[in-house]
Amino acid sequence: MHRHGHPHTHPTRRDFFANLLHGALAGAGVLEIARYRAAWAQSLAPTAASGLFEIQKVAEDVFFAQARPWALPNSNAAVFVNTSDVLVVDAHSHPAAAAALIAQIKSEITAKPVRYVVDTHFHFDHTQGNRAYLNTGNKVDIVASKTTKQLMAQLLAPRLKAALDPASPGPRGSEQVARQLEDLRQRAGKSTAAAEKAQLDQRIGQLESFAAEMKDFEPALPTITFDKTHVIKEKGYELHLEFHGLAHTAGDIVVFCPQKRVIASGDAIHPGFPTFLDAYPEPWPKTIDSVARLPFDHTLPGHGRVQHDRKDMTGQRNYIEELTEKVIAGKKAGQSVAELQRSITMASLKSLHVDGYSIAATPEAMERGVRNNIDDMYDRVEKVTFTGSEPLRLRT
Ligand SMILES: [Zn+2]
Repeated sequence: MHRHGHPHTHPTRRDFFANLLHGALAGAGVLEIARYRAAWAQSLAPTAASGLFEIQKVAEDVFFAQARPWALPNSNAAVFVNTSDVLVVDAHSHPAAAAALIAQIKSEITAKPVRYVVDTHFHFDHTQGNRAYLNTGNKVDIVASKTTKQLMAQLLAPRLKAALDPASPGPRGSEQVARQLEDLRQRAGKSTAAAEKAQLDQRIGQLESFAAEMKDFEPALPTITFDKTHVIKEKGYELHLEFHGLAHTAGDIVVFCPQKRVIASGDAIHPGFPTFLDAYPEPWPKTIDSVARLPFDHTLPGHGRVQHDRKDMTGQRNYIEELTEKVIAGKKAGQSVAELQRSITMASLKSLHVDGYSIAATPEAMERGVRNNIDDMYDRVEKVTFTGSEPLRLRT
């Protein structure tokens, strides 16, 4: 296996990731987002050129590809090496990112072709790269829950259109690419510091390439779908693709390998702030409880670092439950989003003060994350069933 220079050498990685997660920054200003990213890019500078992903081995034939920060959120990927081919979990925000991972798999893991791509849920940062796998010319199946396929077909294209249209406020939970480009170009024009200008130009270049690449985007939809369980049998092990209930979206699945004691958990379980844009806050903790009954030691999340214990999973579960209870109670009492954002604070949430659980690095990031979570879940907290569609949800 390829040697990686800095597997765990950045003490600030986790902190930055907590703040960078797209949901946590949904309500943050463009400048603030840019500042975080610039700082993070600088902290990574010595290794930033070594690829879009940092690949590490988790178990025999199981690898974790952690996405390095880019102008837009990219999901991590889990990579399972089979007897004659490869299965990849999640496909990032655009085909070029998936193509970069395909190249890294080839140079750092195995020459075997990717045969399966699993989409854990429909969000753009996990599915918009699917097509890169089809473009390899190999036989590839894209696997997801039926619900995920339905939501991809319904929402990916209109949300992307809103992100690329300067006249639209843009989709919630994602960045307004067209307006961000305008803002960055203005700042680059005024910038006099060479280092800052270089950072801005890099981000502009990334967003311009994204906009050009995605202009005529059509989703590459799943070719194998299922309701509850789909099993892929390999020589030495099995991969269980399982739907455990409503969570981060209506269709989240986990990929569980009983022999390797590993799960790839998408965004249903990941370190940092959960995102509620299309979530089912009330059933979500019970879904995590169901996943938690599986016998695994390693969690490969959709964002953030690989987890070798369950502290973050338990912490996330309890935070979602507590915040949801408080928002439901507040709504029943007639409180608005703004009122709840004032009354529910970091200090008042017991789940944020448990030893070993750290959801964000700084008090400011914590408060902002809680405020954004309240805003995103407010009109969804009563939803306990999937009715076949989700709203477009543009920014307000
Ligand atoms: Zn995601």
